[in-house]
Amino acid sequence: MSASSDPAATPMMAQYHALKAEAPDCLLFYRMGDFFELFFDDAKAAAAVLDIALTSRGAHGGDPVPMCGVPVHSAEGYLARLIKAGHRVAIAEQTETPAEAKARAGSKALVQRAIVRFVTAGTLTEEALLDSRSENRLVALASAEGGYGLAMCDISTGRFELMQASAADLSAEIARLAPSELVQSDRADPFAETAILRPGHDFSSLEGERRLKAHFGVATLDGFGSFSRAELAAAGGLLAYLEHVSRGQMPFLAPPRRHEVAQHMAVDAATRDSLEILSSQQGGRVGSLVHAIDRTVTGAGARLLASDLGAPLTDIHAIRDRLALVQWFHADPLLRESVREALKAIPDLARALGRVVAGRGSPRDLGQLRDGLSAARTLRERLGKAADLPDLLKRLLPDMQGHGALVEHLTRALVESPPTERQQGGYIARGYDAALDALRDTSGNARRAIAALEADYKAQTGVQALKIRHNAVLGYFIEVPAARADALMKADSGFAHRQTMAGAVRFNSPALHEEAMRIAQAGTHAQAAEEAHFEGLCEEVIAARDGIARTAAAIARIDVACGHAQMAAEGDYCCPELTEAPEIAIEGGRHPVVEAALRKSGQAFVANDANLSERDRLWLVSGPNMGGKSTFLRQTALIVLLAQAGAFVPARSARIGIVDRLFSRVGASDNLARGRSTFMVEMVETAAILAQATERSFVILDEVGRGTSTYDGLALAWAIAEAVHDSNRCRCLFATHYHELTRLAGRLDALSLHHVRAREWKGDLVLLHELADGPADRSYGLAVAKLAGVPPVVVARAKSVLAKLEAGREATGGLAAGLDDLPLFAAAAAREPEAKDELREALQALDVDNLSPRDALDALYRLKAML
Ligand code: ADP
Repeated sequence: MSASSDPAATPMMAQYHALKAEAPDCLLFYRMGDFFELFFDDAKAAAAVLDIALTSRGAHGGDPVPMCGVPVHSAEGYLARLIKAGHRVAIAEQTETPAEAKARAGSKALVQRAIVRFVTAGTLTEEALLDSRSENRLVALASAEGGYGLAMCDISTGRFELMQASAADLSAEIARLAPSELVQSDRADPFAETAILRPGHDFSSLEGERRLKAHFGVATLDGFGSFSRAELAAAGGLLAYLEHVSRGQMPFLAPPRRHEVAQHMAVDAATRDSLEILSSQQGGRVGSLVHAIDRTVTGAGARLLASDLGAPLTDIHAIRDRLALVQWFHADPLLRESVREALKAIPDLARALGRVVAGRGSPRDLGQLRDGLSAARTLRERLGKAADLPDLLKRLLPDMQGHGALVEHLTRALVESPPTERQQGGYIARGYDAALDALRDTSGNARRAIAALEADYKAQTGVQALKIRHNAVLGYFIEVPAARADALMKADSGFAHRQTMAGAVRFNSPALHEEAMRIAQAGTHAQAAEEAHFEGLCEEVIAARDGIARTAAAIARIDVACGHAQMAAEGDYCCPELTEAPEIAIEGGRHPVVEAALRKSGQAFVANDANLSERDRLWLVSGPNMGGKSTFLRQTALIVLLAQAGAFVPARSARIGIVDRLFSRVGASDNLARGRSTFMVEMVETAAILAQATERSFVILDEVGRGTSTYDGLALAWAIAEAVHDSNRCRCLFATHYHELTRLAGRLDALSLHHVRAREWKGDLVLLHELADGPADRSYGLAVAKLAGVPPVVVARAKSVLAKLEAGREATGGLAAGLDDLPLFAAAAAREPEAKDELREALQALDVDNLSPRDALDALYRLKAML
């Protein structure tokens, strides 16, 4: 029932409902004294997530109102859990004190409250609520001119990017960004169930341009680059949402940069999942590529590494630039060690800056900025002296300077380790502000005077047990045991009675009162002075924000390069060579994650070569289950990905021709265990490869076709291999247990056969995990079954069944009988005819709104002629 239709609603409930109406999709934290209270369904939801008591308060519409509460001082922990559980929270604070309310509207007045902030997964800045090693991204999605625009920010560090995506790339881009929150227009189809829908007018390009100009205080966006209408529309939606959730105190955004989709390797969501790049298929970092190779020592470095692995480059010069820096650190272990030591001591500048700009900074954040910026200067000086600086470093070093005056000011102003809490004061250094020091002296003197009073009163009353004490309710008071209170009770004693306790009586005196007032006043003034200094320092930091963000980014880049060099040294990785040819030539390649796992149990990884080239670009890999096929496929994909991210790779040598799109698909039955994938999904994903892979792409297909019956599966695998070979013409590793596919070798000239080796030794199967040329001689299925512990009688029985089957196959010509007579795969038929593509392009290029009727007729004739 709404408050207005409920005559019994108390003023407080009316206020509550009014606030709740401003945040209908959030849990409302309603401040009451030292608690945030939640009511009605909010209370039920929060109590369930937080496992706290659900009580009730008064009645609303005749029913008790469900309620629960969390203490304000420990609210952060509860917030973290609610956000993790998928909730959004609106914080309604008291915006006046009870005394102010009384003065305003009499003794029964209700304290005014307002929503001061929304806490949502994508707009966090608090250290406690964030993972220091991963970015926290808010993404806005918009569409215009037939394309999509994405705006991404991490307000905890100010990173802000805009990008354009085609319909085909959209889900891959969103998978790369892995947003904590996705906002889009309420007029569009939701991209995901969890998308937050916001008013459509926020997502227009005009609105976006206006908001960007206003936020950055510029008259034109030209200085930032040129943006498409879809990008501007997405930026508009993002900025409008940030304004909404931050209630006016806009968080930190660095000037927007354009992420060029075309300059990055396209990796779709299924491939990311299957290669376990940033998280394993069980969920979590452990078991992922990033977990195995991350040797960064700062949070910012770890975040940049994850972002690099999520978006490998395709520009050969940019990749070589990154590799040259890794090489430089690799070549000089002593330098590397000392830089890593220096980096370890650098606090998270970007996140401290993010909090300060968002108005949520603490004195400790200012201390971190002081320490981080000064450490950056030391590091820059050290690196600047080194010989043969790589180009990337030469460009980074200037970004790390220019904060001398700020560091000097922060150093003078702050104590050595400033507290996270501002209220208590004490963070401004002595000697910085003479007036503040005087106030502190005043309260120090008054405290000493009070100590002296205690001695005087003891002498005066002869009560040795007399004490001057302090508590939050009474302030300072004189306390004596009840039995000795008489002397102080006398009317002319100069003491005024305040409180009688069980064993003690408490008094005041004019002199004590005066000193206590001095302390209180000096305290209030000192606090105000510290606050003013704090605000001033924050403003100075805010004015320098772009420079600080650049410094933080430079440090992160150095940390990533140093980490790669460290990993290369520890793991015996090599520097890949990048080329523009359609090749992948890896000698002694290894799987970084499997290798690390084997090493832990003292086993060695068997290195393998891969050698794809224009003339030999499709490798069919067969061999027994558990023989190492998947591992070989994935390691090759991971080596390509690492190389293009600018990292050294686990191999003896690697020459990689730039890959524009990377695809990894795994046959359905591997996924069935996860209860997720079906044969349908496998085919949908495979269809995407056939539609998108180009001659510069690299594809791994692991047992594709397995998710259906033998005949269907073989037929599909056969046709897919043919299409990949003839139409897509990409580099491809295809693992299969369909022995029959080996017949393709005779038909497809750029296809070659390989197998993982196995041996039977004294009746037992030995898997060598070693790749060899040619087809596997047999399937070893029964031997694998034996290895897996299938009882000997069952294996023996299977053997005789197999013998029968094989005899039958010989008689009929086998499962693949007749396949050799198939006409060649008609490459042209698998593609859309060229003319049709042109037609589509011509149609797409038409700007219908700006055509005169005459032009439209002409256009129609032109299109018709293209048929
Ligand atoms: P398949 O795909 O042929 O069934 P996998 O690639 O899944 O086989 O490998 C099975 C197991 O064999 C892996 O989990 C790993 O422990 C081991 N293995 C695979 N490749 C190697 C290798 N090159 N060196 C050592 N062990 C390996």
